[in-house]
Amino acid sequence: TAPAHDPDCIFCKIIADQIPSKKVYEDDELFAFHDIHPWAPVHFLIVPKAHVTSMAQVGPEHAALLGRIMTLAPKLALEQGCRPYPDGGFRIVVNTGAEGGQEVPHLHVHVMGGPRPWLKG
Ligand code: 5GP
Ligand code: ZN
Repeated sequence: TAPAHDPDCIFCKIIADQIPSKKVYEDDELFAFHDIHPWAPVHFLIVPKAHVTSMAQVGPEHAALLGRIMTLAPKLALEQGCRPYPDGGFRIVVNTGAEGGQEVPHLHVHVMGGPRPWLKG
C-alpha cells in the first residue's frame, strides 16, 4: 500500500504546505485548493490527505472517504461562488490514468462551475 505521504508527490507537498496553494477547505482527511490553471470561473480540487494515486487504486476501504469528498463538493461549490441548482450548478471530474487525462498521480476531484457565457443557455 502507498505511504500516507509521498515525498515526491506535488499534491502531498501542497497538503503539507511545502508548496503554497490557495486553500478552500481542510479537515483531518481532506484538503481542497484552487486549481492553478482554472478551466472555469470556479475551479478547485478536493484531495484526500492520505496519498491515494488514482481512482484505479480505490477499494472498499476508501468508500467513506469518497463519500465525504462527494458530499463536500456541492457545499464548497456554493461557498466558492457557484450559483444554486438548477440554473447554476457545477461539474465534477475525476481524471484517471494517462488516457483519462490524469497528470498528477494523487487522487483529486475537480469541481468546476460559475457563469460561463460561452456555454449556451
Ligand atoms: P489532472 O489533469 O491530473 O486531472 O489535473 C491536475 C490539475 O492540477 C490541473 O488542472 C493543474 O492545473 C493542477 N495543478 C498542477 N500543479 C498544480 C500546483 O502546483 N498547484 C495547483 N494549485 N494546481 C496544480
Ligand atoms: Zn500525494
